[in-house]
Order: sequence, then structure tokens, then C-alpha cells
Amino acid sequence: MAEKKGNLSINSENLFPIIKKWLYSDHDIFVRELVSNACDAMTKLKKLSMMGEIELDKDEELKVSVLVNAKEKTLTFIDHGIGMTADEVEKYITQIAFSGATAFMEKYKDKANQDQIIGHFGLGFYSAFMVADKVTIDTLSYQEGAKGVHWECTGDSDYTMEDTDLTVRGTKITLEISDESIEFANEYRIREVLEKYCSFMPFNIYLTNEEKGQEYETIPAEEVLESDTVVEYIDEPEKTQEVEKEDGSKETKVIAPACKKAKINKRPVPINETTPLWSKHPNECSEEEYKNFYTKVFHDYKEPLFWIHLNMDYPFNLKGILYFPKINMEYESVEGVIKLYNNQVFVADNIKEVIPEFLMLLKGVIDCPDLPLNVSRSALQNDGFVKKISDYITKKVADKLSGMCKTDRETYEKYWDDIAPFIEYGCLKDSKFEEKMNDYVLFKDIHDKYQTLPELLKSVGGEDRPEDNKEEKDQADSDYHISGEGASEEDHRSVVYYVTDPVAQSQYVKMFMDNDMNAVILKNKIDQPYISNVEQKHTNVKFARVDSDITEAMKSQDLSDEDSKAYTESLTKLFKNALNQESISVKVESFKDPDLSSMITLSEESRRMQDMMRQYGMYNMGDLPSDETLVLNANNVLVKYLLDKKEGDQVETVARQLYDLARVSHEQLPKEEMTAFIKRSNEILKILIDENK
Ligand code: ADP
Repeated sequence: MAEKKGNLSINSENLFPIIKKWLYSDHDIFVRELVSNACDAMTKLKKLSMMGEIELDKDEELKVSVLVNAKEKTLTFIDHGIGMTADEVEKYITQIAFSGATAFMEKYKDKANQDQIIGHFGLGFYSAFMVADKVTIDTLSYQEGAKGVHWECTGDSDYTMEDTDLTVRGTKITLEISDESIEFANEYRIREVLEKYCSFMPFNIYLTNEEKGQEYETIPAEEVLESDTVVEYIDEPEKTQEVEKEDGSKETKVIAPACKKAKINKRPVPINETTPLWSKHPNECSEEEYKNFYTKVFHDYKEPLFWIHLNMDYPFNLKGILYFPKINMEYESVEGVIKLYNNQVFVADNIKEVIPEFLMLLKGVIDCPDLPLNVSRSALQNDGFVKKISDYITKKVADKLSGMCKTDRETYEKYWDDIAPFIEYGCLKDSKFEEKMNDYVLFKDIHDKYQTLPELLKSVGGEDRPEDNKEEKDQADSDYHISGEGASEEDHRSVVYYVTDPVAQSQYVKMFMDNDMNAVILKNKIDQPYISNVEQKHTNVKFARVDSDITEAMKSQDLSDEDSKAYTESLTKLFKNALNQESISVKVESFKDPDLSSMITLSEESRRMQDMMRQYGMYNMGDLPSDETLVLNANNVLVKYLLDKKEGDQVETVARQLYDLARVSHEQLPKEEMTAFIKRSNEILKILIDENK
């Protein structure tokens, strides 16, 4: 073929500037495009060989070599795939790919910036021009009698193509890296990009720094492989050492026998793993392998709790592993990552169109070769097929979790605290997931026992049950549910009491325990929206924090209504004076436990409202009518003292102290009040000492 010069295509003057500018943030993608083209060419070759069309040398390693040369500013990709004839280069590179790219650009150029995903697929070969001033292709087709082709194009629309002498089948693509993209002529940068996109591509990928020259290693001669290049054989003599025997005489001992070593060209180590764990059948994978894979891919050295291996061929192809990471409850920052692959080629992290949002809290890999990834994100959102994939993943996760709860409750309970935020979030975000998981959400109670949501609802009588079960219902009522006096006349809902901070609320927890009442522990932020959701679904149940009201069961019946009223009146006056607070609401009750002096109650509704306002930064105590009540125990000796004494300095100190003690187990005290509380506590101790002097 005589040298051919050509002009790439209509509109092409605009194309290169757009290509160069377009994927600004994702320039490294050209590496993935060129390496996956190389792998595709070798996959095609393997298929031809399987079909008997060609015969491959069985010792030939089908691989991709990436050569980087910082001095020459070049980056070269070599494969041993099917190669291209001159006609094919003309057709696939010059015409089709180019006009395809042109059409593509035309169609998407306005949306390009928002639509990152377009950048992830579709540009193919021409993405090389994002970083190169000049690209050359040297290729020899597998076809018999094929001649080598040399094609080159500088970043404008002109190209040249000519015959060349090539003897090795395959394609070599050389990029002359432009000055502004010089980072890609650096070995470490290129290794990083290869690891990002190509870690699981199906053929070995080797990276060589051409400037380094040949590196060597020495191995035992018998371990030399046919593929090794031996530089020299070295005869190592026997190694001996003189040792002293017990009787003092000396002896020569052989510590290493004579051996033959070989100095060979350093064996290249591929940057990738060609059969990723997800592509294997779950039966073939060991626990060790799952854990190692997790550490390697996510650089997380904490062991995952457990994992789900997705393996589906029909009706679509999807493989993957989803890991449940160990969550650090203290910070509640759950940051997952789901890596999406297309035929072992990395596409992107966390594509929310494909992966249900709540699953992003997990860490995992999903490989779905059937995904139509060369379309825009908005198209993905409306794609029925994508929705099916997302539903399938959701279903699998729910099946695994519910299955574990049913067949291995002990393990499920062990994981629960870690996975709870994830499951509750999933239930709130995805109604299908909620439907499947509702019966398997656990609640831990103050005795560290776990109950599922249906078990809990049943125990408080919140589930519709046949009348003949009345006895059981009554029993259950005495366990959990007592219509508290905070509940209005019409409110017949059963109550599930809960604790948000078992330490701060320990006084209430003790009171519940002493009265054979139960409460569940809801420590996470997500628990609040989750219980609101349960309340919406189960209208006959409500959740109330342990400090929301005083239930009848906790009171002893030895205080008459009149006395209670009179005491309340007297102590209201006393506390108003002592605390200098007109708005305080005080109530005297009698509790079974005489050690209990004072506590604060605040109706569930008001507390939720306050929490919400606080969350939105609207919280200002002064402006809010509060139904907070200071409840005092008539059976407590300190309260009795106040009732007897009524005034004096000491009375004021006791009153203030009782009030603060009640408040600390209800909420966090503001700074000044905390300081005053500590100061007063110290003063009280001092009085104690002085009295005993
Ligand atoms: P795509 O890979 O999406 O088809 P590209 O622009 O990357 O688009 O490549 C266009 C065509 O050029 C490919 O379909 C293939 O036929 C051919 N091609 C590209 N790179 C190679 C290669 N390394 N070996 C053989 N053929 C190649």
C-alpha cells in the first residue's frame, strides 16, 4: 500500500478540541479504553481459536504490556489479539469509530458535564487524544498473508496510513503524551490508573518502565521456566561451618549443599487478577479468600461481618459480592462503596441508578456485563432493565438477612447492632426491602434480649389478635404496656417504652426493671425516623421514651388523691421560690422505690418536637411552652424533709439539688447549670464533713 493521507471526517475540526476538554475530570479513562480494547482483541482471538478458525501456540501468553517512558514522554499499549488489516483500520478506526464519536459528541455535548457516565463509556480509542499530541497504531492481523499497518494521527483531523513490516500478530498503540498531561508518562501514576480500572481485567497486564532497563533475579536453577530468559547459570559451592563438639574437638558441618542457581530476567508481575473472586462459584470460594479480597479491594483492615455472593445467569447476567462492614457505632459514619464493573472492567463507584441507595452503606463489587452503560444517567434511571437489576440486588440482600434471622438467629443477633442502622435505613428508603425485612428487624431490650418487630408488637398487645387470646394479652400488657396517664382519654394505643441512652437514663431503666416492666434500647439516630415509620404502619402502637410519663405500675397506691394534691401545691410553691422559676410544673407521686427522689418527665410528643426543632437549629427553650414536669417521690426521705421543713437555706439547697439530679438523667445540662450543680454538690459534701467533725 502506498502511503495514504486522509482527512478524518466532516465536523472533525471541532472534535479534537471537544475530546480534549470534555472529560476534564476523568482524563485517566483513556487507559481503561485502550486496555479493554486490547483485552477484547484477545478475547476475539480466543473465540476464533475455540471455533477452530485459527490455531494458537499453546505456550503463548495472551497479555497486555504497558510501557511507560518518561524521558521520551511516551506510553505504549501492546496486545497479542487479532490485530487489524489496513481495511479494518480504515473502517474501525478512521471511519466508524471516528464518525461514531462525532455523532456521539453531537448528541451529548450539551449534557456532557452533568452526565459523568457518558465519560465512562463510548469514547473508546479516541479518548487517547485527551492526553496525547500524537497517536500511532502498528498492527498485524491474525489473518493469513496479512501485512502490517502503521497509522498515525496528530491531534488534528489529518492522518497517515502505510504498510509496515511486522512479524508479531497484535496491536501496538503508542501515545506521545502532551505536555499538559505529562503525569501519564510517569510510572507511578500509570500504575495507579491501571490498578483503578484494570485490576480485574481478564488478561494479564504488565507495566514496564522502559527507562529502568532490564532487572534481574536469581532463583534455583531447577525452578527456571521455559518462559524465563536465563542470563547465566551460577554454580554455588557447598557452604560449611566449623563447629565445636562437646569434647572440645572441631568438626566441619555442611550448612548448605552445593547448588546451581540461575540469574534470569526479572519475571514480570501482572498488575491485575484475571479471575476475580466474584466470577467464581460461591462453593469454590473460601472464607479466607472472601476476607482477603475485601482487604485488597477496599483497603479496609477490619474484618467484614459477613457477605453475600450474588451469582446470577438468568434472566440477566450479574455477579458480585456485597460485604457488611463492621460499623463504628460511636461516630455513626457509615461510608460504603459499591464498585461497578462491566465484564471485569471497572466503570465507577456508587452508581446510584443501578445500586439501591441504601446499599451504598455496604462495601462491594458488582459486575453486570448486560448493563447499557454507554447511555446517559437519566436514561438509566428510566430503564426497566436497570430497575430489575436494582430490585434483584435488594431482594437478594433481604433474602440473605431474613434467612439468617430464621435459621441462625444467634448469629443474626450477634451482628444486629452493627447492621441495624443499615436495615432500618433500607426499610425507610425502599418499600420492597421494608416489606421483606419488616419481620426481621430486631429490638434489643434492657435485659439484652432481642425481639423481632412482630414479637415486640405482640408482647405489647399492639397486634390484632383474636379475642380468645385475651389471657395472653393481659399478661403481655403487664409486661410492657400500661396506658400511662400521659396518654389522653382517646389514646388507646399500646406503648413500647424505649431508652435512648442507657447510662444517662439509668434511673428510669432501674425503675422499669424494679417494676417488672420492659423497654427497648434505641440508641441510633436512625431509630427515631424508623419508629415513626412503624407507628404509621401500626396505628395501634406508639413508642414512648422511658421518661415520657409515669405509668401506674410504678406507683405505690399508698398516697391518696387529696394528699397528692396538697403535697403538689406545697412543693410547687417551694420549688418556684427555690429555683426562681415561675413556669416550673411539679407533681408529687408515691413510688415503690424509696431511694428514688426526683425525676423529670416530658411527654413523648413534646420531646419529639423539641428534638426536631433542635435538629433544624430552631431550638430555643424560652420560646417554647414545655410540658416538662418535675415528679417527686412522696416516699423519699429528702422529699419528706422538704414537705416538713418548707423553708430555709438548707431547704433551698436540697430543692435545687433534687431538681438538677432529675435533670441530669433526662438531658444534658447547659454549661453554667452543670458548673453550678457540681459546685453545690461539693458544698453539700463539705457540710457532711463539717457535721461529723
Ligand atoms: P469500541 O471499543 O467501543 O468498539 P473503539 O473506538 O475503542 O470503540 O474501537 C473501535 C474498533 O477498533 C473496535 O471495535 C475494534 O474493532 C478496533 N480496535 C480497537 N483497538 C483494537 C485492538 N487493540 N486490537 C484490535 N482491534 C482494535
